[in-house]
Amino acid sequence: MSSIDTQAIHAGRDDLRALGVHVPPIDLSTTYPITDVDSGGEAYEQITAGERGDGAATMVYQRLWNPNFDRFERAVAALEGAQEAVSFASGMAAWSAALLATVAAGKPHVVAVRPIYGGTDHLLATGLLGTQVTWATPETVAASITPATGLVVLETPANPTLDLLDIEAIAAQAGDVPVIVDNTFATPILQNPIRHGATLVVHSATKSIGGHGDLLGGVVASDSEWAVRLRSVRVLTGAVLHPKAAYDLHRGLQTLPVRVRAAQAGAQAVAAWLAAHPGVSRVFYPGLEDPSGLVGTQQRGPGSTMAFAVRGGYAAAATVASQCQLITHAVSLGGVDSLIQHPAAITHRPVPAEARPGADILRLSIGLEDPADLIADLDQALAAAARPLSA
Ligand SMILES: *Cc1c(COP(=O)(O)O)cnc(C)c1O
Repeated sequence: MSSIDTQAIHAGRDDLRALGVHVPPIDLSTTYPITDVDSGGEAYEQITAGERGDGAATMVYQRLWNPNFDRFERAVAALEGAQEAVSFASGMAAWSAALLATVAAGKPHVVAVRPIYGGTDHLLATGLLGTQVTWATPETVAASITPATGLVVLETPANPTLDLLDIEAIAAQAGDVPVIVDNTFATPILQNPIRHGATLVVHSATKSIGGHGDLLGGVVASDSEWAVRLRSVRVLTGAVLHPKAAYDLHRGLQTLPVRVRAAQAGAQAVAAWLAAHPGVSRVFYPGLEDPSGLVGTQQRGPGSTMAFAVRGGYAAAATVASQCQLITHAVSLGGVDSLIQHPAAITHRPVPAEARPGADILRLSIGLEDPADLIADLDQALAAAARPLSA
């Protein structure tokens, strides 16, 4: 099999030559012609049951099937080393489908290792979709499993502290219970959880895969059995990826390896500079400090997102975030431009106080700007935070 860089360029494009085109045509049809009632009915039944729609007599309707999301899914499956992938309108729609699929299978109990993305934490804590959650540490996963447990949920690197979890060790504790890993931060370029024992991998494609801050998307890579269940949830609940967004995400995968590596090199420089700054008490970045020892093995590089604690607590951190000029004060990550935000106040606001990141912590996603310019911006923002309030 070709390398991940080559697959990023070519995966999901096998049908183009036969079509006589160089890039995927965008199919915006919401409905598809039916030749006869019998074959149309059969196609409808198959696809709504979660079977693939590409071999059916008709794709019937865009909520059931679309060639652009199919191509994007094939490419993600190739990059993750998964049998299949199923796309959704957003990362949270992807998470919702996985949780609904486990509830539908009669296994509504979920064991989740904190910290995870604030939205996923909130969704699990509210039990909105009929799940019941037990919060675990990496050591208490096995003890938390019951006969009703349908999923073990984890995110590595964790959001926002960048702690790395040993997927193999947790999968061993989970035994027969499928492990689902949010791989948004690492991207398929730096980490492939299925190779380490995970059954499902979730991405908010809104982040690095899209990479330009202009679309929402989500995707779950899995075995074919789970893919059937996820597609049947998608057909019923309707959170499908728009074909144009699927086209853009598929194109985004082509530059993902170079974007990830370039942003990572910039992040390494910025993290080293922050660690030496007197206004910063701690930098959370596995490229500087990796107590897990997983960088270089499970995770092929430290990535481009970090967090740092500002001396002076909440007030100083809030000042740094709002004083940044080149770096945008905004949520999200993994794009071509750098973003900074305050997790405790914004993305992790719904998380209970005991599990919330510190008030002095900022999360920083490094883009593709010259790291020297990013450092200059952080320097003036940290200086503003250190200045005593003027009269
Ligand atoms: C953004 C994000 C999500 C949610 O994805 P959306 O596309 O915003 O719905 C889930 N997990 C992580 C780690 C994220 O960063």
